[in-house]
Amino acid sequence: MTDKIMPNRLDRGFEKYQEEFEAAALRVLRSGWYVLGPEVAAFEEEFAGYTGSGYCVGLASGLDALWLAFRVLGIGRGDEVIVQGNTYIASVMGITINGATPVFVEPDEFYNIDPDRIEEKITERTKAVLVVHLYGQASDMGKIVELCRRHGLQLVEDCAQSHGAAAGGKTTGSFGDIGCFSFYPSKNLGAFGDAGAIVTDSEELARAVRMYRNYGSEKRYYNKVVGANSRLDELQAAMLRVRLAHMEEITEERRQAAERYTALLDNEKLILPAVRQGVTHVWHQYVIRTERRDELAAWLEGQGIGTIIHYPVPPHLSEAYAYLGHKRGDLKITEKYADTVLSLPMYNGMTQEEQLRVIRCLNEF
Ligand SMILES: *Cc1c(COP(=O)(O)O)cnc(C)c1O
Repeated sequence: MTDKIMPNRLDRGFEKYQEEFEAAALRVLRSGWYVLGPEVAAFEEEFAGYTGSGYCVGLASGLDALWLAFRVLGIGRGDEVIVQGNTYIASVMGITINGATPVFVEPDEFYNIDPDRIEEKITERTKAVLVVHLYGQASDMGKIVELCRRHGLQLVEDCAQSHGAAAGGKTTGSFGDIGCFSFYPSKNLGAFGDAGAIVTDSEELARAVRMYRNYGSEKRYYNKVVGANSRLDELQAAMLRVRLAHMEEITEERRQAAERYTALLDNEKLILPAVRQGVTHVWHQYVIRTERRDELAAWLEGQGIGTIIHYPVPPHLSEAYAYLGHKRGDLKITEKYADTVLSLPMYNGMTQEEQLRVIRCLNEF
């Protein structure tokens, strides 16, 4: 009996740099400084450089990054934010926590927001566009940046799945007013617990987020706004610095795994992912599509291969957003994707043997 192949294996990503992670953890434990210290400051500087942004502010999660991004941009009740329908629900919660209303747009064939469908959704209440570089592929930023400029809209990027992905040679997170990142353990740049960050070129916005993350204070016990506790801790920052130093290798390994899938998968029932001209894909997920998705997932499970659906319920049909009043049929492409997508096993440290077994089973289906 061969071992089950899981959709993700975080232990493999740890083992590869185990000595470095352990040394960094001990360094923090022994330092006596655990929250907002030198590791966070160093990570912020290194990550700002990695994304080509002026500033980075470490936070407690990706959702907090989205929430605080819209907060410091002054977006709230009565405002509309345009976002793609096929995203993780956290993208939408970042908007609605602030009291603003999400307006959903259909995706293109690359699973990112369709830039040609944005304009028809703009009203006098529209304040911003939230672009999600889903599955690790950069969106069509040329068109989107131009459109936001022309309509005077703010641009926020959800880069929770796109660490290091670029469009036209420019890194995701550096196009908009604010780029939001998650370092949840399963992300390409993952911590060992919850973590997130924003990046921006605006000193003023960075300063505002820095204030919000620490109870709304710049000077201890003098609070300017009702803020939050959304601090990145030293231990996570130290772990992230280890991984960030190897990010090129981490991304390259995923790219090679994706190439292997694309080269060797051979089954006309499956639609393989396409990469847009001029952008890069960092393969947070390798997502295929088939009309017989549930049957395929069950069959793979029977062969000892686990898969995940990202995501089975689109936010507009989620119980959490029933109050928005959407119904099935409102976003046909989004709904079709939700019914047909399947994410194949994809992780750093996946062996060729494991991947070939997945490919063999998919080709037999
Ligand atoms: C993971 C994720 C988030 C949320 O990040 P957390 O750190 O889990 O809060 C937001 N948006 C997208 C697209 C994600 O994949």
